[in-house]
Amino acid sequence: MGELDRETQVFGLAVPAGVVSTTGIAGLTLGGGTGYQTRKRGLTIDNLLSVDIVTADGQARVASKEVNSDLFWAVRGGGGNFGVVTSFEYRAFPLGPKVWLCAPFHPFEASRQVLRAFRDFMRDAPQEFGAAVLFWTVPSDPFFPKEHQGKPVVIPQLVYTGAVEDGERLTKPLRTLATPLVDLSGAYLWTEMQSMFDPFVPKKLLQYYWKNLYLTSAENDVLDYLTQIAATLPSKHTYLVLQPLAGAMSNIAADASAFGPRDMNYMFEFDSMWSDPADAEKNIAWTRQKWADLQRYSTGRLYINFPGFGEEGERLVRSAVGNASYERLAKIKAKYDPDNLFRLNQNIKPAR
Ligand SMILES: Cc1cc2nc3c(=O)[nH]c(=O)nc-3n(C[C@H](O)[C@H](O)[C@H](O)COP(=O)(O)OP(=O)(O)OC[C@H]3O[C@@H](n4cnc5c(N)ncnc54)[C@H](O)[C@@H]3O)c2cc1C
Repeated sequence: MGELDRETQVFGLAVPAGVVSTTGIAGLTLGGGTGYQTRKRGLTIDNLLSVDIVTADGQARVASKEVNSDLFWAVRGGGGNFGVVTSFEYRAFPLGPKVWLCAPFHPFEASRQVLRAFRDFMRDAPQEFGAAVLFWTVPSDPFFPKEHQGKPVVIPQLVYTGAVEDGERLTKPLRTLATPLVDLSGAYLWTEMQSMFDPFVPKKLLQYYWKNLYLTSAENDVLDYLTQIAATLPSKHTYLVLQPLAGAMSNIAADASAFGPRDMNYMFEFDSMWSDPADAEKNIAWTRQKWADLQRYSTGRLYINFPGFGEEGERLVRSAVGNASYERLAKIKAKYDPDNLFRLNQNIKPAR
């Protein structure tokens, strides 16, 4: 994704995609694609114009709204089930070069007011805001003041893709909800913004188990429950993310792509990470338990690109795209990959 951002920024443009530069755009796109532009521009697949794809029979095909439209419908949310995509054609939008970031690291004790204020702010916030609340621990990194390293924090993290001055003015109240331990707020190049998380999700250096679900609402009882969960983080590397969605992504019909119904308002992510492989069992068990406990506030659906180990199999894919979309995907799979050659993925079995 870093390469995509760098090359598009040369023209003052950006493709709506994810938030970490080391993420592969292929898997991200095929599963949907969320990021700071989702509320304004929709998911990555909503801005996908065509793909070049090699299907199971060895044929190189184009898929778009005009050509092989069933295949194009399927790759927008159906993952890697339908072939090897060798090229993506995206719609890009003017953005940057600088954007405003609001990122005060408030002490965890301020969670109650921070979560409520963030929710209320986002209710009517311009769609130029891509935002989340993060529960995290101040990293043991020389960049952060030594006296605050290791302290739990709650961060209203808002990226404003409109004029920088507007972003700064609008987010001022969120920065003064408490006295932040650190405040990273400021104007950043889009490419800096898109690689800010890179050091904290290093490839190979940490162990990962990421899982998510969509929440029905962000009423006070839900927010308090999230805070309770955050008080028990088993690793200082782990962060939890509450992300408001809706906006442009919800203006797309449920059957317009394989992604399924767009009625989700909030996503909650368990981004569990730890350094010692010996701690795997503890961290995975904690994530699974809290994820299961949180189901009481969930729509029952989830985003397929944070699937843990995908251990729920077909149930996982169904809960991502919904039953109607799943049945249609299985028929398209039978047409393009009847022997399930592409099965090392969140698999959709060909319909019989
Ligand atoms: C650090 C990090 C940050 C992330 N941030 C975001 C984010 O902001 N927003 C978001 O939406 N997601 C995010 N994700 C999740 C991300 O979308 C998935 O991990 C995605 O699978 C990454 O794509 P990849 O190309 O690296 O896939 P891989 O891990 O290489 O593959 C995953 C699956 O994608 C399919 N696939 C990959 N390439 C192709 C291809 N060329 N043709 C056909 N199928 C293919 C295959 O089915 C494969 O099994 C993040 C993940 C990480 C690790």
